[in-house]
Amino acid sequence: MPLHVILANPRGFCAGVTRAIDIVERAIDRFGAPVYVRHEIVHNRFVVDQLRDKGAVFVDELSDVPAGATTILSAHGVAKAVQKEAKERNLPVIDATCPLVTKVHIQGRRYAKAGRQIVLIGHAGHAEVIGTIGQIDAPVVLVSSADEVAALPFEPDTPIAYVTQTTLSVDDTRGIIAALHERFSDVAGPDVDDICYATQNRQTAVRKLAEVSDVLIVVGSRNSSNSNRLREIGAEMGIRSYLVDGGDDVDPAWVDGVDTVGITAGASAPDALVESVIAKLGRLRDLTVSQLEGVSENVEFSLPPILRRHDTAVRAAAE
Ligand code: SF4
Repeated sequence: MPLHVILANPRGFCAGVTRAIDIVERAIDRFGAPVYVRHEIVHNRFVVDQLRDKGAVFVDELSDVPAGATTILSAHGVAKAVQKEAKERNLPVIDATCPLVTKVHIQGRRYAKAGRQIVLIGHAGHAEVIGTIGQIDAPVVLVSSADEVAALPFEPDTPIAYVTQTTLSVDDTRGIIAALHERFSDVAGPDVDDICYATQNRQTAVRKLAEVSDVLIVVGSRNSSNSNRLREIGAEMGIRSYLVDGGDDVDPAWVDGVDTVGITAGASAPDALVESVIAKLGRLRDLTVSQLEGVSENVEFSLPPILRRHDTAVRAAAE
């Protein structure tokens, strides 16, 4: 009996991750190795190792960056204090913050300026959450569940505005937003169109995939919030669901007696790792591989001007 492998669509890299990786590679090309990257550029071990091999040095804090070294800020965004520190040290900085994360920062600041109490819906300790809180010059309270809304220490008529971590979808935040509206009389928040298209599309696709699969394999690193969420959705839908870094992590017992395996990948996981999972399954069983229909994505974000200028110069020199 062959094992049927079905791939979710869309899956894997989003526009923000593609841009961030592109920024590191072009910066190495433009300024020479090493370039210093504060925090993992995206939450994927394979991507980070590949960039390290090319000449990126990953550091936890700017204090680990030598004077004058080219410094890249990760896709998750950083607090204003980090930008200030870079400026004080005169570090040449290239910001790889995803434009959709920057949009959340701008929304948060706008709501705070309008005098609203900001509620950030997200997970404590996530790099993006730390960055967003540090970008808003006003108190921000973090909530990660509807129950936490009940414990907020504000009067019911307090003007509230919420913003959300980008790796949460409309489905993830719906209950929390409903709880805010129930508890407070004046609640503002971004339009549904403002949420991250990639997070929503990958979650919609994995739900569809879980309906036709016996087992779900999600390719992504353990510290990737959106990859973990994809695995959780599979589990919530009642199928065995596993998160793997690549083919080596696949346990043959997972597909014993199984007819159909669904595979998807988090927004920071490259397709090469999906291929490695398929290759591993192919060593265990005969396979058929097909793809589910899904939304086609054509989002692209432009590069920071300093790297665009280099492109233009290189092209001009070649002509
Ligand atoms: Fe940007 Fe969305 Fe990708 Fe995060 S998941 S990097 S917000 S496009």
